[in-house]
This record gives sequence, C-alpha cells and structure tokens, in this order.
Amino acid sequence: MKCALVTGGSRGIGRAVCYKMAQMGYYVLVNYKSNIAEADKTLAQIKQDGGDGELLQFDVADKNEINQLLGNWIETNNDKYIEVLINNAGIKDDVLMVWMQDEQWDNVIKTSLDGFFYVTRLVLNDMLSRKYGRIVNVVSLSGLKGLPGQINYSAAKAGVIGATKALAQEVGRKGITVNAVAPGFIKTDMTEGLDEKELKSIIPVKRFGTPEEVAYAVGFLASAEAAYITGQVLSINGGLYS
Ligand code: NAP
Repeated sequence: MKCALVTGGSRGIGRAVCYKMAQMGYYVLVNYKSNIAEADKTLAQIKQDGGDGELLQFDVADKNEINQLLGNWIETNNDKYIEVLINNAGIKDDVLMVWMQDEQWDNVIKTSLDGFFYVTRLVLNDMLSRKYGRIVNVVSLSGLKGLPGQINYSAAKAGVIGATKALAQEVGRKGITVNAVAPGFIKTDMTEGLDEKELKSIIPVKRFGTPEEVAYAVGFLASAEAAYITGQVLSINGGLYS
C-alpha cells in the first residue's frame, strides 16, 4: 500500500495537504505533535471523503521519538511504503535577535531543520530501494527573503531550502524528487494574530492565501507527472516576493 506521510497534518496547511494526498489515492499518515482532537478531525474527514489513513504521533523536534515511533511504524508495516513525504510541521517564535532566548532559537531550528533531517533520513531508505519517491518541504517566504523578528525561523527555513537543493542532487538518479514550497501569508492558526487588513495592502493579489492553495502546489510537486522538476522552491505568496 502506498502511503503519504504529512508531518503536522492535524491543522492548517498540513491538514489541507492530507486531504490532497487522500484525493490522490494515498493512504495518509497524519502526523501531529500533541493536538489529537484536531488530528482526529483530519482523519475523520479523510475517511468521510472515501479515503483512508491513520494517525502517527511524534514530535519532529525530538530525534529519539522520530527514530522510535516512525522507525517502529516502518519496521512493523512491511505491507506499506511511504512513497510521498511532506515535511510540513513548523513553528514560529518571533522576537528581535537581541531579545531572543536560547530556547527560542533551539525550538524553531529543531522543529523545521532537524525535523526535516531525521524524518527524511528514515523515510529515504525505502524510496531508494524502490527507486521512486516524492519529497516536498514546506518552507517560507521568510527563508528566501529573511524577515526581521524571525532570525530563528528564517535560518531554519533557509537551511531546509539548502538541504532541498543538495538532496535533490543526491537522489535524482534514483527516481526521487525533492522540492520545496514557500508560502507567504496563509490563513491558519500560525497567522492568527497578524493584521490581515494592513498586510494585504502589500500583497499584489490583496488577500492572504488559503491552505488549499498551498496543498494544490504540494499535490502537483508530489505527482508522478512532476518527475522532471527537482531541487526547486515554488513561491505561493500572491506575488508578494519576486
Ligand atoms: P499551524 O496551523 O500552526 O499548524 C502547525 C502544524 O504543525 C500542526 O499540525 C502541529 O501539530 C504541527 N507541529 C508543530 N510542531 C510540531 C512538532 N514538533 N512535531 C510534529 N508536529 C508539529 O501552522 P501552518 O500555518 O499550517 O504551517 C504549516 C507549515 O507551513 C509550517 O512549516 C510553517 O512554517 C509553514 N508556513 C506557514 C505560513 C503561514 O502563513 N501560515 C507561511 C509560510 C510557511 P499540533 O496540532 O499537534 O500542534
């Protein structure tokens, strides 16, 4: 059975990506950190729409949990194979650098950058032996442009962009593509506190994006037809940055 693993699939962009993966016929592994109620909702909707999947809780910032819980799932599910990996889980913790605490730096870097490394390394083995795979990393405008107040987040996402380009070159001949999507402002819990009225004036399409609009691009990059696109970063930001 072919599976798609979506980290941070319980809410926001990850949830919309889970629905997209289910529409594409994948058995969806909905990863989450702690919000089981929202993760349950994602899985219930997938099933209601005729898809299938399961919850797979682990903290992407904790390499021991990844190795234990995801590693154990891979070992005990020989009939299933993760063909698509969407590294979507991420957090932000904004403050100017002079006031940034060690934990604020560590947590944001660990979640996005370490999470990418430890999850992808585990999943890559099966993709390499089957000579097929699709990896899509959800990065950010902040990782391309750099945003004040977000040096932790910008550094983490820029790190994942570099890793995306490097890994694409390592595994291209094995039928595995590695790409990233870089959303701008998307309506989710992460952007809840932002002043949309003010910010939309600087966005050429004059609104925030939706999780479904990001999921559409992720689905495209995860499709078999996108086989000749790898090492790329696709901006989904309403024209905000070029
Ligand atoms: P969100 O609504 O805050 O959802 C975050 C998701 O990530 C939740 O499912 C959460 O799980 C999960 N998560 C957080 N830390 C995790 C961890 N350590 N281990 C496993 N799962 C974890 O965020 P979002 O806006 O959908 O963002 C999704 C991705 O898009 C992130 O990488 C973010 O940086 C990126 N992004 C978002 C925007 C935007 O405007 N929203 C823009 C650019 C990039 P729980 O439910 O269990 O907490």
